[in-house]
Amino acid sequence: MLNVSGQEDIFSIPHKDIPIGLVSMPWASANAPSLQLATLDAIARQHGLQTERHELFIDFCHHITPSLYSRLVHDNEFTLEWLFTRIYFGEESGNWLDDFESVRPKLDLPRLDYEAEIIEGLQSAAISFLDSVEKNIDWSRYDIVGLSLSTQQLGASLALARRLKQRYPNLTVVFGGSQCAGSAGTAILKFCPYVDAVVRVEGEMVFPELIRRIRHGERLDGLKGVSHRTADGTVIEEEGGALYQNTGSRPFINYDPFFEKLEHFDLQNKITLFLPYESSRGCWWGERSQCSFCGLHEIMKYRPSQMDFVLGELEHLAERHDYTRFYAVDLIAPKAFFDEFFPIIQERGHDWTMFYEVKSNLSRDEIKAFAEAGGKVIQPGIESLQAGSLKYMHKGSHALQNVQTLKWAKEFDIIVYWNYLMGFPGEKPSFYDGAAEKLPLLHHLEAPFTIRDVMITRFSPHEKTPEKYGISALSIHPFYNRILPVDQDHLDDFAYIFDADWELKDQIQDYTGALKQACKTWQAAYRNGAVLDAFPQEDGSLIVKDTRFGEERRYSLTPAEARLYTLLGEKQHETKLAGLLRGAAPWALETITRDGGMDDLLQKWHRTGLILSEGRQVIALAILQKDEEIASQLAARAAARRINNEAIVPI
Ligand code: SF4
Repeated sequence: MLNVSGQEDIFSIPHKDIPIGLVSMPWASANAPSLQLATLDAIARQHGLQTERHELFIDFCHHITPSLYSRLVHDNEFTLEWLFTRIYFGEESGNWLDDFESVRPKLDLPRLDYEAEIIEGLQSAAISFLDSVEKNIDWSRYDIVGLSLSTQQLGASLALARRLKQRYPNLTVVFGGSQCAGSAGTAILKFCPYVDAVVRVEGEMVFPELIRRIRHGERLDGLKGVSHRTADGTVIEEEGGALYQNTGSRPFINYDPFFEKLEHFDLQNKITLFLPYESSRGCWWGERSQCSFCGLHEIMKYRPSQMDFVLGELEHLAERHDYTRFYAVDLIAPKAFFDEFFPIIQERGHDWTMFYEVKSNLSRDEIKAFAEAGGKVIQPGIESLQAGSLKYMHKGSHALQNVQTLKWAKEFDIIVYWNYLMGFPGEKPSFYDGAAEKLPLLHHLEAPFTIRDVMITRFSPHEKTPEKYGISALSIHPFYNRILPVDQDHLDDFAYIFDADWELKDQIQDYTGALKQACKTWQAAYRNGAVLDAFPQEDGSLIVKDTRFGEERRYSLTPAEARLYTLLGEKQHETKLAGLLRGAAPWALETITRDGGMDDLLQKWHRTGLILSEGRQVIALAILQKDEEIASQLAARAAARRINNEAIVPI
């Protein structure tokens, strides 16, 4: 078919009536449908193509029970991959990777009494699952099957690709997704002969042309960002590839097949479901100054989506699926959304629940706007509360800014999902001086969900410029050799997690141990419902209720003190305090000066733990509350979430 310029229309794709099979394998999170498959489906529809989506991780979740699947899917990456790579290599060459059994980490399960039995059960469940999907899906309907690979989906994808190609040699098998980014995609193609092509870049940019060429029987030469195999088996890696930006030209996504699957397996009420969506790609902070540990993505270039389109897509999903718990997959929320997007959601009266990753520099008004739009969870990349560590990792935020975010989020009943990272290569142990002692003051704020030493991952500055951080002997994590018995070169190109040496690495536990223990105490205190709440009284005074240290204490602040304390709701520089108070309430400054002075008052608040300082910055720690009963209910609800280990994000 020729287009108006007389050239062949790249979208004159033959066999449009033949559906393209799109697959997502275990161990994707069962709490969410695949945004990747839904997006490819939308691009396909835009070009008159048909797809059939198979979110087979849900089949496996059903197969081994949702509770076990959800438990396993976190923090067991190498073992989960091994459960399927052993099938791939076992069926291919008789190597069932039994060596890994003796060295693998224990499963991250609350009870390990039956660990060996669970592993044995999972091994046979993985085989019977593959048998079932191979036999029960009519793969002969497809000429092309695309598998989307994100974290820990390689093993199952390899095993399925092998079985499909053996059974249907004419089928074209294509891999894509974040696990194929960078050099990893070409490595997969080199060590797995059952994959015909790997898309290493954003799929939207090449998907229609890839399908057109495959269906025309054309070579994939020159298709940027795609690695492919020639007729003689040589693997070609096409460099480059344009970046995608959602300008609102594609149709809206839907999650129809996922909901049908949930219904088929009667899983609707057995998993906590989130609907993923995307409102930007890249990171506006990372493109300026990527955090030293961040290997979240190969490409940091920031590309916000068209806002009206995002809003329309969410309204469409809400109506189509009658479900409104949304989860933004953005690396970082678009800045403009706080002024424009969230207020519109509120104006339209949508009763939605939303999650966003944000930077920990939001103003109180921005957090309020997010909460009023249905914002329930943020991940603000807090990472640490030590000034030295934050600066060292190029986080671009300050310790008290992080405390401020935790505080305002609690004021607006927003859950803060965050990790406390420690043990950065090249950092100074002195960064940790006094850090553990400060934490009891924060027991009323959301405690970190995980506490761990930083990992070195591909695409991070740690991996790209190790010398800057004193990192030497960078090598892939030794478990890769155990779960992927392929050439070392391919492994080096594929691996995402690295081992390395640096000075003081073997002393990490010595200088972080006290802080880690203090974090665990914080988690326990938060589970027990610790509060530090300030209740404004009619005469302008404040009553502060404090249960952080066990027994309840109450403090009474005079109206003048209350004005100063309220000013400190946002972190302030000590030297500016008098001027600020003079501008806001000169009578309060006069009263405080007359009654002993500001320095004395700040000292008193330091002793009682009502404020926290970092250098000359100071912040009030109490959460401003309107009503004591409502505040108690909120604290109890937050504690219960932790006790019940509720799923608050689909990871
Ligand atoms: S950690 Fe977050 S803020 Fe930092 S570069 Fe990565 S995505 Fe951006």
